[in-house]
Amino acid sequence: MDSLKELYQEIILEHNKHPRNAHKMECPTCSAEGVNPLCGDEVIVFVKLDGDTITDVSFLGQGCAISQASASLMTLAIKGKTIEEAQKQTSIVFELLTNDILSPSELDKLGDLVALSGVRQFPARIKCATLAWHSLESALRKVLV
Ligand code: ZN
Repeated sequence: MDSLKELYQEIILEHNKHPRNAHKMECPTCSAEGVNPLCGDEVIVFVKLDGDTITDVSFLGQGCAISQASASLMTLAIKGKTIEEAQKQTSIVFELLTNDILSPSELDKLGDLVALSGVRQFPARIKCATLAWHSLESALRKVLV
């Protein structure tokens, strides 16, 4: 179990150090900003859509390692997905962060996102991990109305 914890921590630290898709997007289809005042985390998520497919996603942010790693992992997880698939992925991540009910096959499908489950032991940090995902949801909501 300790080695698993270390692996999760390594994934988080690596993504914080080398965040993927961490840049401003020119002409995004939609974007949304999220702030977690409890920790001082800020994230802006940019989404480019072709029909209902997310062809590109990026973010700009600052804050703790968990918030930035979660944003980086989010961009990798949802790029190429449809809006519906991205929303489903978001709710699975919220479940991952708040409870332990995901089946082994569901956990398997999460790939590196599973590293975020380490945050469950630190309830005060859950908002850091959900920030980018909430911002993604608000960005997508703008095109759905
Ligand atoms: Zn934070």
